[in-house]
Amino acid sequence: MRLEEIVVPDPGTGELLVEVAAAGVNYIDTYQRSGQYPTPLPFTLGKEAAGRVLAVGDGVTEFAEGDTVAWGHGEGAYAEHAIVRTAQAVRVPEGTDPQLAAAVMLQGMTAHYLVHSILPLAEGDTVLVHAGAGGVGLLLTQMLTRHGVRVLTTAGSPEKAELSRGAGASDVLDYEGFGPAARDLTEGRGLRAVFDGVGATTFDEGLAALAPRGTFVLFGAASGPVPPVDPQDLNSGGSLVLTRPSLAHFIADRAELEWRASEVLRAVASGDLDVRIGGTYPLADAATAHVDLEGRATTGKLLLLP
Ligand code: NDP
Repeated sequence: MRLEEIVVPDPGTGELLVEVAAAGVNYIDTYQRSGQYPTPLPFTLGKEAAGRVLAVGDGVTEFAEGDTVAWGHGEGAYAEHAIVRTAQAVRVPEGTDPQLAAAVMLQGMTAHYLVHSILPLAEGDTVLVHAGAGGVGLLLTQMLTRHGVRVLTTAGSPEKAELSRGAGASDVLDYEGFGPAARDLTEGRGLRAVFDGVGATTFDEGLAALAPRGTFVLFGAASGPVPPVDPQDLNSGGSLVLTRPSLAHFIADRAELEWRASEVLRAVASGDLDVRIGGTYPLADAATAHVDLEGRATTGKLLLLP
């Protein structure tokens, strides 16, 4: 990654030019940087940001100069000025700190669809969330526990375990032996669901820890991609469900984007959702943010402040 000066672009039809107040760092940025998700180069990273609209392109009627907007699935947010399509932007409610808005667009809407749109979760269900002190992990744990679900988590250090407990985890497990531990904690029944953004190192054991008809939600690969799976394993595991969802498919519809964004931003404003900013970096130190994130040295949300 290299910091470069370029001419501030003009917004095209249906686009906004935004002065970025804060850009979110997300694990997907590291997949794009490393080539795990191939992207034509050169490329400005950054799917998520919030800031003030400086100019609007042709045909834009929903937003105006001076509005504060945020988005969680754009491009080029690691910048002082970014172009965002109106289809991806939402208005940030008056009084909400743009840094907090930037912090929850991608990970918060992800937690929202994981809780509300993958499987019907009932009060009393027990689920496992890996990396409970991470960006998604802290938000997902809070939303699940508000929903009446009992949440077990994994975390990589005692400090992270403490944070995860603070977000509502009933039990924080070591990665070593988390599967049998989860089974013990469910009196042998197994888990209703596993939410796994870690991937390669946790997949097999998580699958084995599900209750019959349990759902494995594989939503990321922080430890590397999961190798091919034999569908027969889902049968022998007890008619299991395996899904590999992505935020893009849960906010493609404008009404759905607005539903998720408004619920998340409202929860932030009311204090129902506690947002932990685990680190802020100047734009020039974006590479350090990636090293820290990939090195498991972070908790909560990382922001770049241009
Ligand atoms: P996190 O803040 O959760 O950081 C990743 C965490 O994963 C680390 O802090 C670490 O926590 C844990 N981890 C375990 N093993 C490893 C490893 N070998 N290398 C690196 N980290 C490891 O990141 P995000 O909240 O940004 O993202 C979490 C996951 O969610 C990612 O896989 C990401 O791709 C995915 N995601 C998926 C989305 C979707 O829609 N599908 C949307 C958003 C995110 P610890 O030390 O506690 O183990």
